[in-house]
Amino acid sequence: MSMTRVGIGYDSHRFREGRPLVLGGVAIPHPRGLDGHSDADVLVHAVIDALLGAAGAGDIGSLFPDTDNAFRNASSIKLLERAAEEVRRLGYGVGNIDAVVVAEEPRILPHREAMRRNLAKALGVGEGSVFVKGKTNEGMGAIGGKEGIAAYAVALLVKIDSSARRAEAGK
Ligand code: MG
Repeated sequence: MSMTRVGIGYDSHRFREGRPLVLGGVAIPHPRGLDGHSDADVLVHAVIDALLGAAGAGDIGSLFPDTDNAFRNASSIKLLERAAEEVRRLGYGVGNIDAVVVAEEPRILPHREAMRRNLAKALGVGEGSVFVKGKTNEGMGAIGGKEGIAAYAVALLVKIDSSARRAEAGK
C-alpha cells in the first residue's frame, strides 16, 4: 500500500459586481468579487478538490453540494476545515499544498502570507507546508480579459501508520 498520495484541484469563478472578493480566506478590497453559491473562494475550492482527490474521497461537489442551502454564502475556509477532517478520518496527514492563483487583478503577492496562514490553520499544518503563487495570464483569454479568476492546487498526503495513530489516540 502506498504511503503517499497526490491530488490535483482546479477551479474558476466569474467576477461579479456587488460581491466581496475572498481569496484564501482573505477579504481583498476590490471593485468586483467572484460569483458563486458559497463565498466563491476559488483558491480554497481548488485546495479542497486537491485534498479530496488525493484521499480518494470524492470532490467538493459531492461533499458540499451547491443544491444544499446550508452552503449558500458559506465560508469556504470552514468547508476546507471539514475536508481536512475527512482526510484525517481516512488516515492521512497533509504533507504539503502548493497552489497557483491565475488573476489579471488584483495582485496576489501583498496577500500571500495571510492566505498561507489561513490555509495552514484550516488544514492544521505549519505555514511552511502551504505555498501560494500569483500569476497573471499575460492578458490572454478569459482570465487575461479579467472575466474571472482561476486557481490550481496540488496536495500531497501521507498515510499515517495505524500503530502510530493508536499511540497518538492513547496519549
Ligand atoms: Mg468553486
